Amino acid sequence: MGTVQGEGRGGGAAVHPAVAFLREAQARAVEAARAASEPALLLWPTHPVEFLLAGQEVSTLETRAAEAHIRLHMPEAVLLRVEAERGILADHADADGCCAVCADPAAGRRALEWPCPTVLALARAWGWSAQTGQGGGEGGSG
Ligand SMILES: [Zn+2]
Repeated sequence: MGTVQGEGRGGGAAVHPAVAFLREAQARAVEAARAASEPALLLWPTHPVEFLLAGQEVSTLETRAAEAHIRLHMPEAVLLRVEAERGILADHADADGCCAVCADPAAGRRALEWPCPTVLALARAWGWSAQTGQGGGEGGSG
């Protein structure tokens, strides 16, 4: 809980708000995924999800689509995605104010300012808004 936003890594350099937002969103997702999977793996379907209507199992195009959607958000899937994103974030690290890997082909392959468009896109995927400087989606500031 808490104060990830203001914490640097001891170096004194301020973390860009989009990156702080991204790291916090990923940490919350990991925490929620672990909390959901650790005590009760059996709660999660290992075989087709059953949709019941008045006690009867229903299987339609819509319920199968809903099942596919649910499976995309299973704890294991969330943890995999966050791990991959953290790898991307580590690759696109801050190297003296520029991205460690991104370069602008229109400017003689000069390194792009950090956070680069890739890092900002990751943050947007979690609800970051450059206009408001904060998450625009669900949740709020709790
Ligand atoms: Zn980059």
